[in-house]
Amino acid sequence: MTISQLKSLFHSELKNIYPVNEIDSFYHILTESELNLSRVDKALDPERLIEQASELFFRKALKELASEKPVQHITNKTEFYGLDFTVNKDVLIPRPETEELVAWVLQEANDRKKLKILDIGTGSGCIAISLAKNLTTAKVTAIDFSESALKTAQQNAKDNNVAVDFIQQDILKTDVLPDIYDIIISNPPYIRELEKVEIQKNVLSFEPHSALFVSDDNPLLFYKKIATLATKHLSENGLLFFEINQYLGKETLEMLKTTGFKKNELRKDIFENDRMTKSAISN
Ligand code: GLN
Repeated sequence: MTISQLKSLFHSELKNIYPVNEIDSFYHILTESELNLSRVDKALDPERLIEQASELFFRKALKELASEKPVQHITNKTEFYGLDFTVNKDVLIPRPETEELVAWVLQEANDRKKLKILDIGTGSGCIAISLAKNLTTAKVTAIDFSESALKTAQQNAKDNNVAVDFIQQDILKTDVLPDIYDIIISNPPYIRELEKVEIQKNVLSFEPHSALFVSDDNPLLFYKKIATLATKHLSENGLLFFEINQYLGKETLEMLKTTGFKKNELRKDIFENDRMTKSAISN
């Protein structure tokens, strides 16, 4: 089979399930990862032959894509803030809106100050690791309740050549944090059961529900717990950053205020959804 025949096969097999541009993107991601071919390589040599073993890989991948398995679970990797991350069923696939949160933290942070940073519910480690990579003097700690997520995060820190202290801990069962921090950041679970209808099948069937869902009657559970801990564990001008549920901007700000944060800012993501907050205790 040639590479151009492979491209046609992708389109014919997936056309009823995905839009054309998404199929193109799958084709490019998978040929890059399996054959190490860039877009230019493919354009210059469309008649290039694919070996039998690779052909088998692509046929299996097409079946998996047809079952709506995320392409990142087929390659076991994704990119976040310009860095490569291993992902698997144990961690949430890093989302672009979380890159916007990291960009906000980096705007506010001063690398000369040897900041202490804590990431709560680190998952793949994407927030902690991208901060550590960009704030070379910072001391970064990351917590997650899941042992398997922490294994993946540890691997990611190693692969990206950064030192992050990982701690296995359930934040809901935590009464004191290990230290005082200049920045506490979290992207905890925030999707309500009632919003499940909006969630795509690939997310529902393949990503860890413990990283995504909260009950309808207490959706700010993690936020309240983390904000309360942060009131006791932030340094004098310390900042608390959250990624938030787009429908709960007002409620999140209200909760932050009543918990003791006097200065709060809410920002939208590129899709114009309320998506992140920055809070300080004093004005
Ligand atoms: N933004 C993620 C999603 O829409 C949810 C992340 C989270 O619950 N923290 O899938």
